[in-house]
Amino acid sequence: MLEKVVIANRGEIALRILRACKELGIKTVAVHSQIDRDLMHVRLADESVCIGPNPSPESYLNVPAIISAMEVTDAVAVHPGYGFLAENADFAEQVQNSGFIFIGPSAEVIRLMGDKVSAIAAMKTAGVPTVPGSDGPLGEDLEKNYEIARDIGYPVIIKAAAGGGGRGMRVVQSEAALHNAIYVTKSEALAAFGDETVYMEKFLENPRHVEIQVLADGQGAAIHLGDRDCSLQRRHQKVLEEAPAPGIPDDVRAEVAQSCVQACIDIGYSGAGTFEFLYEDGRFYFIEMNTRIQVEHCVSEMVTGIDLVKQQLLIAGGEKLALQQSDITITGHAFECRINAEDPKTFMPCPGRVETWHAPGGNGVRVDSHVYSGYFIPPNYDSMIAKIISYGEDRNIALARMRNALDEAVVEGIRTNIPLQQELVRDPAFIEGGVNIHYLEKKLGL
Ligand code: ADP
Repeated sequence: MLEKVVIANRGEIALRILRACKELGIKTVAVHSQIDRDLMHVRLADESVCIGPNPSPESYLNVPAIISAMEVTDAVAVHPGYGFLAENADFAEQVQNSGFIFIGPSAEVIRLMGDKVSAIAAMKTAGVPTVPGSDGPLGEDLEKNYEIARDIGYPVIIKAAAGGGGRGMRVVQSEAALHNAIYVTKSEALAAFGDETVYMEKFLENPRHVEIQVLADGQGAAIHLGDRDCSLQRRHQKVLEEAPAPGIPDDVRAEVAQSCVQACIDIGYSGAGTFEFLYEDGRFYFIEMNTRIQVEHCVSEMVTGIDLVKQQLLIAGGEKLALQQSDITITGHAFECRINAEDPKTFMPCPGRVETWHAPGGNGVRVDSHVYSGYFIPPNYDSMIAKIISYGEDRNIALARMRNALDEAVVEGIRTNIPLQQELVRDPAFIEGGVNIHYLEKKLGL
């Protein structure tokens, strides 16, 4: 068992990790920026270290400062949470080289999955269904690229191998626009990611976003914890998630999930991870793997009863996965609404002092949040302040509980997107289930 863990993150996920550590009797060190000394988990941690000024590059992305904090506190491991350094292979490598444990997969695996071209190749080998595409980087030969696109069929999408955060992509409707699109995406990719490698995929027009949660111990054992639907997105940002994904035939889900388990074993994956897919006309198409805990992990926890963060800690401590696939059953349904400090109409971030905070409760309601009455939301970081999660024996019950929870929540002093979430959980198409990734933006008139 790990003795002491540095939590290299902030906000709700830092508190989430702290809670899991405490349950397992692991000592905690909170590392934080100057403005974040009032964060809830900083107060609750065994020790805390200020690692720098407010801008993330000087604190939460400051690798030497984080490693020094591990040294001075005698910590053995670091949990990166999500965002910041969570998928930074160089960070994982430096942690390992300094003699500490990175709670996540190895630097090599992060690097393999961080490059979308190599990730897709690894997935194909493991039998994970991928989007029909160029199967490798696009070269300079224009005729060859026309031929690839003709084989795939328009529309196609040009994507940066090193892309992330929904950037570095361009849809091409016809041959006339192909050459220029490749050229522009390449130069954008070089500027944004320092790597001009691009590849081509079939552009799926009306897919859903469905992902598979996995756990693997890096010692030959891997399992999946079913799927999640995260199709309600705005600018590639997920807004509301649920598990299981509605309306997917059990055999189709089982087959894709099994291929993800196989991929974990093939690549020597260790820890918690997510295989993201587009789902269209009854078929799954792999787009990328997230080699970390995700914001929406909670809905899988609710329907499986498995604590994913505790599993991450146990695996990083060198334990074999104690769970087998037959131990995992999906029971009931769960939703998660991301609550952001932002204007519900313009989506402009709305930092400031939370005068009053009253979290909802009741049967089947979980709130993961670091906020309390009087807490000042700094303008420097992500605007998410809470996740409201509801569980029910079936989808309708979980949805009714979410409606209650959103109606009960009181946040005064700042604006939040709660009014938007209240509208979404009453939206007839959403209630029906299975809307696609364009639904929310269309509804918002974007
Ligand atoms: P990122 O790492 O930037 O998040 P992804 O590969 O996960 O990139 O793609 C982000 C989003 O872009 C997807 O959720 C989807 O909305 C859209 N997208 C990516 N590839 C395709 C595709 N082949 N067809 C249709 N939409 C796509």
